[in-house]
Amino acid sequence: MENKPTSSNFIRNIVIEDLESGKHSDIITRFPPEPNGYLHIGHAKSIVLNFELADEFNGKTNLRFDDTNPIKEDTEYVESIKEDVHWLGFQWDKLLFASDYFEEMYNRAVLLIKKGKAYVCDLTPEEIRNYRGTLTEPGKESPYRSRSVEENMDLFQRMRKGEFKDGEKVLRAKIDMNSPNINMRDPIIYRIAHAEHHNTGDKWCIYPMYDFAHPIEDAIEGVTHSICTLEFEDHRPLYDWVVEECEMESKPQQIEFARLNLTNTVMSKRKLKLLVDEKIVDGWDDPRMPTIAGLRRRGYTPESIRNFCREIGVAKASSVVDSQMLEHFIREDLNKKAPRSMAVMRPIKVVITNYPEGQVEWLESEVNPDNPEAGTKMIPFSREIYIEEEDFMENPPKKYFRLFPGNEVRLRHAYFIKCTDFIKDENGRVVEIHCTYDPETKSGTGFTGRKVKGTLHWVSASHAVPAEFRLFEPILLENEEDNKDFLECINSDSLEVLQGFVEPDMKDVKPQDKFQFVRHGYFNVDYKYTTKEKPVFNRIVSLKSSFAVKK
Ligand code: ATP
Ligand code: MG
Repeated sequence: MENKPTSSNFIRNIVIEDLESGKHSDIITRFPPEPNGYLHIGHAKSIVLNFELADEFNGKTNLRFDDTNPIKEDTEYVESIKEDVHWLGFQWDKLLFASDYFEEMYNRAVLLIKKGKAYVCDLTPEEIRNYRGTLTEPGKESPYRSRSVEENMDLFQRMRKGEFKDGEKVLRAKIDMNSPNINMRDPIIYRIAHAEHHNTGDKWCIYPMYDFAHPIEDAIEGVTHSICTLEFEDHRPLYDWVVEECEMESKPQQIEFARLNLTNTVMSKRKLKLLVDEKIVDGWDDPRMPTIAGLRRRGYTPESIRNFCREIGVAKASSVVDSQMLEHFIREDLNKKAPRSMAVMRPIKVVITNYPEGQVEWLESEVNPDNPEAGTKMIPFSREIYIEEEDFMENPPKKYFRLFPGNEVRLRHAYFIKCTDFIKDENGRVVEIHCTYDPETKSGTGFTGRKVKGTLHWVSASHAVPAEFRLFEPILLENEEDNKDFLECINSDSLEVLQGFVEPDMKDVKPQDKFQFVRHGYFNVDYKYTTKEKPVFNRIVSLKSSFAVKK
């Protein structure tokens, strides 16, 4: 992978200090997804941060599945996450599963019980909530808080054996019901869940809670800097408490940063799953999804996503990033890489009445004017071509420089043509345009006789390959943060499917090939819908945006 200078940020500064002070001699970070959905662009921010930070200081990054909640997790998600991290360009040091430490976590819980720092509680979930108090009122101690070590040991062992039903009992840390930090008011650290786990099967029916499991996982692995999102800031005292009281040898440091939010996008896996389950989108890899799989199918490259993540930086304050910034980075990446081609998305036929019937000319064009190394290719021209419907008007307004009766335009790489006539169907719709061409005006011959204002793209009708174009709009009408009912914010017009034509060399395209279609934008060949007969192109982005990234 190319080495980009890492920009300075407060987490990087902490790492530098820790190395200089000798607190750590090696850096270990981890990316810890819960396998309960596909990764999204927010996760990419965390991946890039963790992997590049460790990499810069010759450290290591593990991929650890935080699979402590059997109900929502699945091996399909495990596989997709591995694929996505690789695709983004990163190689983890170790592949780990939190569920592999269940026995160790259990033993640490037993240690807490023995130290009088944990107890089995029989309050119902609702009672526990009521006893917890609020931000302004202290909590109330559970009547089970004073159970003896022996009784707690016995009950906890019986919880493990499966003697109790879900929700009947929990194990709680005994900390402080008066703490101003609600997370410290005897948090639940184990719960009963008679559920099949994707990794451990039915071996366990009690499962550790995130706040108990995560610090232990980090400590077992020797993670030095445990980077998470801001909502865990208030959990940090509990994180440190667990590391301390469970007597973990290694002492990881939790550091929080602001999660990525994007305009008009959902970023929570729960909501993304809802879109999939309700069939509002065509799976986790739908090109409108902000998932890594969706972005890949849309046509985003790993480079563009990495560059985006570097540019947005790492901060302590939450903000919403404009989606156009992500688009900027794919345009920048594809400008040099993507071959140019002409595609007609809403075709109308043009007959060039003075062009010899049956004649075909092969015209030279550059594959990519922004990259001379890409060379040239030949495009067929003939008597009948397709142009865009919107490039012709019977009664044009002022300043319309495209085709209309009597007007002359340039056909890109070909000739000037002048509209002489058109044919309408019984509904009054224009279905065919008649033009004449001027052989003198051939592109590349240096013709300077006269100028025209409009240049149109086209494809030769008899050579054209039928193609489908899929154009996308944001999946949400509002920003996720705006606190509206999520399903009401869904943009029902986020997909437009068009049937048109592309140049003949497009019949050999392969899934994930990327092109710039002149005037239309960047497109990616869809791997799901493309057939031998008909390529299907997903529009990644249009060509222009008003957005400028500050340098
Ligand atoms: P979601 O709310 O989408 O389910 P999550 O935080 O529950 O997200 P995890 O699988 O637990 O998802 O996250 C794995 C890692 O990715 C965590 O370290 C988390 O902090 C980070 N992460 C998740 N979402 C974002 C985001 N939007 N921006 C930055 N980092 C994120
Ligand atoms: Mg989570």
